[in-house]
Amino acid sequence: MSSKSTYFIANWKMNGSPKDLIQIKNLDFFIKNRFKKHNKLIVYCPPQPLITYFAKKIRSKNIKFGSQDVSNNNFAFGAFTGEVSSHILKNSGAEYVIIGHSEKRLAGDNYNTIKQKINNANQNKLKIIFCIGESLKENKNKNSLLILKKQILASLEKGLNFKNILFAYEPVWSIGTGIIPSQSYLIKVFSELKKILIRHYSVKSPKLLYGGSVNAQNIQSLKMIPNCNGYLIGGASLTSKNFIDIIQNYYS
Ligand code: PEP
Repeated sequence: MSSKSTYFIANWKMNGSPKDLIQIKNLDFFIKNRFKKHNKLIVYCPPQPLITYFAKKIRSKNIKFGSQDVSNNNFAFGAFTGEVSSHILKNSGAEYVIIGHSEKRLAGDNYNTIKQKINNANQNKLKIIFCIGESLKENKNKNSLLILKKQILASLEKGLNFKNILFAYEPVWSIGTGIIPSQSYLIKVFSELKKILIRHYSVKSPKLLYGGSVNAQNIQSLKMIPNCNGYLIGGASLTSKNFIDIIQNYYS
């Protein structure tokens, strides 16, 4: 395993309340006591109203906070009801933001809005968790790599600070289904993603994450994928017990 940080990113989706601080406290206690020597970074992405509260309560060099979305409007403030700018997010305690999640794409985000969100987050120095992934149909039609390339090229401009971008490969057919891709498939996808990022953006060591139904059992095989710098975890990140089991099995 490399000496680089391994990312365990929790996407809580539309779940959580202030009392779930206990889940994060449990995890904080556990990693401080059991995993001191491992180079890891945990990023919690709860619903936006919880970010400030959690970020104030948890001060840890291994636990950071992020948002699940950001406005595509390039203003710090303004008449955009319901929108949250990168600037506001940054001031609320978020250091990361998920952009391009398939559930947001399904709800209307397109290549252009995703590009605008990425540019805004980049300008405000938020670290970006950029989600890409093909649908089941695209996968069955053997179009996965084409789709991934399109998602990247259509939304990433050349001048971005690529040090602040994590690429989360999340096949849509794997999210919440309990199904994960085979090791050989993931190895191929990761190596192709590296090639695309080198060829088009000169990014030599992109940080690549896998997301989709990660759990304490399948982490044993997912941790074998070369070039994988971490995981984006939905359902199994909601309780500290499940989340800790994943981290424990990753390092066992
Ligand atoms: C996700 O939605 O980003 C995700 C990875 O979900 P799950 O782990 O529940 O499949």
